[in-house]
Amino acid sequence: MTVFFPRESDAVRVALSPDNAGKLHQLGLEVVVQSGLGGGLGWRDEDYVAKGARVVADAAAPDGCGLVVRVNRPSGHEAAPRGAVHLSSLDAFRERELVGALSAAGISAISVEMIPRTTIAQKMDVLSSQASLAGYAAVILAAERLDRVFPMMMTPSGTIAAAKVFIVGVGVAGLQAIATAKRLGAKVEAFDTRPAVEEQVQSLGAKFVKVDLGETGQTAQGYAKALTEEQLAKQRDVMARQVSQSDVVITTAQVFGRPAPRILTSAMLEAMRPGSVVIDMAAATGGNVEGSEPGVEKRIGGALLLGAKNLADHVALHASQMLSNNYLALIEHLWDKETKALKIDPSDEILAGCLLTHGGEVVHPQFRQPTT
Ligand code: NAD
Repeated sequence: MTVFFPRESDAVRVALSPDNAGKLHQLGLEVVVQSGLGGGLGWRDEDYVAKGARVVADAAAPDGCGLVVRVNRPSGHEAAPRGAVHLSSLDAFRERELVGALSAAGISAISVEMIPRTTIAQKMDVLSSQASLAGYAAVILAAERLDRVFPMMMTPSGTIAAAKVFIVGVGVAGLQAIATAKRLGAKVEAFDTRPAVEEQVQSLGAKFVKVDLGETGQTAQGYAKALTEEQLAKQRDVMARQVSQSDVVITTAQVFGRPAPRILTSAMLEAMRPGSVVIDMAAATGGNVEGSEPGVEKRIGGALLLGAKNLADHVALHASQMLSNNYLALIEHLWDKETKALKIDPSDEILAGCLLTHGGEVVHPQFRQPTT
């Protein structure tokens, strides 16, 4: 069976490292990469060839292709040949038309951001690997744009107080952001609606901000449940005070399958000290901060608001290595050594979470019904 990795004009990261091309080759797959695939990261065509891959000039899937792997979602014709498997981030909740098109094209589409957050799937967890690097990159970006230093400094020229960093949302990205800001010497505080997070925040040496919201809870997958409007209003009251005292605010709050909760208002940013920096890591899913847009910087009062876009791209080499490892682990899981083909069993415990279309149908329960 042939697996094809096309070059993507809209991606900085790459879905296959040369080392993992070698591992797929050893597994028994014919690995085909489009010329220039890893060029932006210093991975040359000859590095892939040295590991057993074939390099082609064309973006079209080669004959016999049973699997196409990409970083970002495809446009219809790039997905895969009829009957083949497509693997990428599909952003399925906002791309329902694409899900329908993949099903009509007879493609088995796997959306990697839907991989279950379970122990057995940890090696394949694209969301975690990329979110962790994005959390790191957000803090580095904030430190670079802030008009003051992060650590406390006592020098003959004067004493400088540590910067105050506030992290809203402590999932994978938030935890890495806390750890990175602490390493840089900032005074870090954090908040999340899931009470289980308090201990994790403290174990990183940061302070957990308590807000009495009543019942919040989490899903069986560990995701936050959406707050009621009343709870969100309560949260905003506490956030207003906290934000006004912070030099850097990084928001990462997400509710799986829904638009991100709106937590910070423009008035809160206007109350911040001039020179402060706010990074909204949820900008692409609707934004935690009023007015934020992915990839756009704006001044609100004296604060600089950065709407994050693909922060893992800032550390593209490591992000690609991890992504490639995640994809390799998933392909290994699906690979049937006897038939030398992928085994697409919709009842498999990992595929049940992330296989959206198969056999000409939408098979994932969350996408079967058209939304209104
Ligand atoms: P996420 O990206 O869905 O959300 C980020 C954070 O935002 C979450 O911690 C969430 O609780 C928080 N949030 C939601 N609404 C909020 C609000 N109004 N105010 C403040 N915070 C709010 O989260 P994630 O990083 O994908 O992690 C989700 C869960 O999955 C976590 O419990 C994580 O520990 C767990 N997880 C488990 C595994 C595994 O077991 N293999 C792997 C990765 C993550």
